[in-house]
Formats: sequence, structure tokens, C-alpha cells
Amino acid sequence: MNDSLVTVRSFRFVAEADVCQALLESEGVQCFQSNSTVVQADWLLGNAVGYIQLQVPADQAERATELLKQIPESRSDVDDAKLDENVCLSCGAKMAESSDRCEQCGWSFDDGAEPA
Ligand SMILES: [Zn+2]
Repeated sequence: MNDSLVTVRSFRFVAEADVCQALLESEGVQCFQSNSTVVQADWLLGNAVGYIQLQVPADQAERATELLKQIPESRSDVDDAKLDENVCLSCGAKMAESSDRCEQCGWSFDDGAEPA
């Protein structure tokens, strides 16, 4: 059995993570939230650790990803920001197309990459 966990989606808000976790569990996919306790305890620290990550066992990641397509990402605060690769995932500011580093907070897509 492969016990390694992979992150299938990251969230800014615990409520969003809970919705997705409930969906996956209703479909029999085991899943876990990482960092959620930290995020709730300290919003700034939550930013530092990369929000809440919903993780599933590696062998269920593909199914989980399919199921999560039913739920649009970041429903709450980015509707007017056109979630794409040029929006800072840390503060939500629009980023210059020529740069992958946020001018507002210094966050970069490199920082947001999956942990090794
Ligand atoms: Zn930013």
C-alpha cells in the first residue's frame, strides 16, 4: 500500500476545504487537510505556510481531481480577478505577464510549488 499523500487543491479558507473534503469523502475518497489548524490560529502564519492543502493518498489522486472538477476553485474572493496564472495566489493581486513574482507581496509561483 502506498501511503504517500498528494495535494489535490489548496484553499484560502477552511470552509472551502471542508466542502471539497465532504465531497470526496461522500465518494469514498479518503482525504486530509494540512495546515488548516495553523491557518485558523493565525492568518498571517497561514499565508506563510501556503494556506490549507487538501491531500489524498497518491493512488486516489486522479479520482479526487476528477471529483473536484464539480467544485469551482476559490469561489469566494477571486470572481472578479479572473483566476489565472497571472494572479498572485498569496494576496490576489494581478501580476505582470512578464513576471512570475508578485509586486505587492513578493510571492512567486516558485514559492507556491508543491513541496519536494
Ligand atoms: Zn501577492
